[in-house]
Amino acid sequence: MFNEVRSYSKEDQLKGHKSEKRKPKVKEKRPKKKKNPQLYRGRIIPKKKDRTKITPENYNKMIEVYGAYCQECGYTPVSAHHLVFRSSMGTGGWRNLAPLCTKCHDRAHKHFEFAEYLRTKRAERFGPHFGKDKYALFKEGLIPTSTDEMYERFMKGEEEKRDNKKV
Ligand SMILES: [Zn+2]
Ligand SMILES: [Zn+2]
Repeated sequence: MFNEVRSYSKEDQLKGHKSEKRKPKVKEKRPKKKKNPQLYRGRIIPKKKDRTKITPENYNKMIEVYGAYCQECGYTPVSAHHLVFRSSMGTGGWRNLAPLCTKCHDRAHKHFEFAEYLRTKRAERFGPHFGKDKYALFKEGLIPTSTDEMYERFMKGEEEKRDNKKV
């Protein structure tokens, strides 16, 4: 009874193993990617993927600063939108993030004017460099070293400039 149910006899199963073993093992030689980090004036500049990704800290800061509802229409739930797109090296830092509902988020990726309008609004508060990270500012010569401290000081200065104009 049991033998009828089995599709392979023990013998067949072993045959399979044997023939596999007979095959000469050829180790595929994959050309190893050279791990030359991108350097700029002696500093290692991380990869785009790491520079644009959103950390939980930045996501939470985004919610703290702009609210847990869509920045455009007030709906929930929201997801984080990169105002300066990832493809343009937009930072995953909270200054470049906007909580948007599904509908508005979709619109931000399909309609250039809407995406641009959102960026313009953000620039009014944080200045024209809001989408950049510390490495971008450093490469552009806007800060002397690529530290978080320098970055924060610069960005706060930019924000203060706008505040003073309003007064
Ligand atoms: Zn988005
Ligand atoms: Zn919305």
